[in-house]
Amino acid sequence: MVFHSSSLLVIVTTALFFLRGQCKPLNVQTRGICATEEPEPSFLNAVQRVHTNEVKNQGSPARDGPIEIDTWFHIVSSSAARDQVTDDMVDAQLAILQTAYQDAQISYQLQGVTRNVNDVWARNDDELGMKKALRKGTYSTLNVYFQTDLHATPSQVTRILSSKTHQHQQSPQKQQRSSSNSPSPSTSKKTDLAVSVLGFCTLPDPNINATSPQSAYIKDGCNILAAAMSGGSLDQYNRGGTVIHEIGHWNGLLHTFQGETCDPNDPGDYISDTPQQSSPTSGCPASRDSCPDLPGADPIHDFMDYSSDVCYESFTAGQNQRMRSMWGSMREGK
Ligand SMILES: [Zn+2]
Repeated sequence: MVFHSSSLLVIVTTALFFLRGQCKPLNVQTRGICATEEPEPSFLNAVQRVHTNEVKNQGSPARDGPIEIDTWFHIVSSSAARDQVTDDMVDAQLAILQTAYQDAQISYQLQGVTRNVNDVWARNDDELGMKKALRKGTYSTLNVYFQTDLHATPSQVTRILSSKTHQHQQSPQKQQRSSSNSPSPSTSKKTDLAVSVLGFCTLPDPNINATSPQSAYIKDGCNILAAAMSGGSLDQYNRGGTVIHEIGHWNGLLHTFQGETCDPNDPGDYISDTPQQSSPTSGCPASRDSCPDLPGADPIHDFMDYSSDVCYESFTAGQNQRMRSMWGSMREGK
């Protein structure tokens, strides 16, 4: 199984820690879940096409020369958290991003930083309105929205809670809950668990062309929980890794554990040098092998796994090539 039009990086906690107007995360257990929608067939076809071309042209570069991506950062704060994102955090986040993409020869040319204080936008309760007001540039322009109170929408919560990854990762918690006097597990899981989002980006949309109106891609870009920026308040996830991971999606990468199976016939993430992985990594283990009968251990230091920020190290050569191919075929000149 592969995915979709947008992906969500979320964390699930036992307590409702992101109360409105308050951003004090407690007890973060895991980077959590990308609650993705079903894959758009057009996206899967595009990935398959790019993958086939990469295999055919092995050895020759996917695209010559450095790739420079015009980039806008939008800081969207609630009134209570208006001073949370400092200029130093913005600078540090950009520097970390550049370093992570150096091997891919991709750099982000910051065109500007906007700052807005808006309680509704900060919660992402009016994503369309916010993006209509703030989005800059064309389809090839990266817009990143750092929101102080980003949270999952009801439909995202439903998808997250019914996802395979969630069931896999959260089962101990559910057992604990069902042993108390709480309602049945199926009820309590929907009412007790608060779902917080670290971030999500749109994947490239092959239906967009150079003449598409902005309204066709107005939601394109990345939404990031500001506390997960470099220097943010989110323990274990405040070294800037979330932004690197999410922009990997914007550049067309899927998770290293995509498909969540050890079936060698599953295309997984369609990248040949990321070993098959049947579940996401949590924290930063010394090593891990979720598919012991298949070659290679889990790529726990890969930016597209779910490890904690301190564990993140690199993209593979195949991922770097994929991002360059996807840029050339999906975004450049649009
Ligand atoms: Zn993700």
